[in-house]
Amino acid sequence: MKLGIPRALLYYDHAPLWSTLLEGLGFELVISPPTNKAILDLGVNRAPDEACLPVKICYGHLAALEEKVDALFLPRMVSERPKTFFCPKLMGLPDMVRPELAAELFSPLVDLRRGKRELIRQLSDTLDRGQRQVREALGFAERSLNRFLKKMQEEKLTPLEALAGRSLRRKASQRQIGLLGHPYLLYDSFLNMGLISFLEERGFFPLTAQMLPPQQIQRCAEKLPKKLFWSMEAEIMGSAIAFLEEQVMGIIHISSFACGPDAMIGELISLRAKQSGTPLLELNLDEQTGQAGLQTRLEAFLDMLQRRCPA
Ligand code: SF4
Repeated sequence: MKLGIPRALLYYDHAPLWSTLLEGLGFELVISPPTNKAILDLGVNRAPDEACLPVKICYGHLAALEEKVDALFLPRMVSERPKTFFCPKLMGLPDMVRPELAAELFSPLVDLRRGKRELIRQLSDTLDRGQRQVREALGFAERSLNRFLKKMQEEKLTPLEALAGRSLRRKASQRQIGLLGHPYLLYDSFLNMGLISFLEERGFFPLTAQMLPPQQIQRCAEKLPKKLFWSMEAEIMGSAIAFLEEQVMGIIHISSFACGPDAMIGELISLRAKQSGTPLLELNLDEQTGQAGLQTRLEAFLDMLQRRCPA
């Protein structure tokens, strides 16, 4: 059976987990291509106007796959860690997209507050495979995810570089810039108009949360006066504090228009950066964002950083 996986949202966090699991269970996988203008247009046409840009993009990726596969895979992400949750748009996404799709949608519940046994039961029911087979395939998949995470941290790779098996090992330099934001904004080079290459071509070292040890992010997140309820925002805030500890030259925070959690942590990031005297550039993306405007703001920010700290 051909199963489609959209290259959107949590793909950048979980790709090796789901692909190893599903291939281990005998599915043939089709991953949607990198985001392009046609996918963006499909998503904007199908999604509700009030949806955030990453959700619209996900609609586009699902639409690009639906005629090519027997079913689509989009788990219902609720909680991965104790007392934290994914945003409500991610929790409700399978219900939002299902009526629009021409193919069947497989959306097992991922709520690790209920324990691994319940996850296995969910996967077994949704994918029509025995629990024992799922348990074994999930064990392989978790080990594959752990290797992927470790490779990104040790070799300072982005998820796409790690997935492609690259061994880049970026050289840490004095010209580190901390990049903050959801992985689906940081690593979708169509959405952010090639931000990472843009920085590298100008001699800056882009540091992201995926390149830091999770213990450091966790320790930094615990410095907040109140624990954040949303898991992805807790990771972004922990990374912001870690970047300030690492004394990056500046921070770029990429957020998405119509994202409630982003609006809230934007204020917290701005406050922390101001207190430490670290320059901060905030870029808010929507489907109308133009390349020329974005690059002009980036050029001005990088020029300012260079004047503050000449090489
Ligand atoms: S966290 Fe923000 S950008 Fe991500 S899905 Fe939720 S609303 Fe959209």
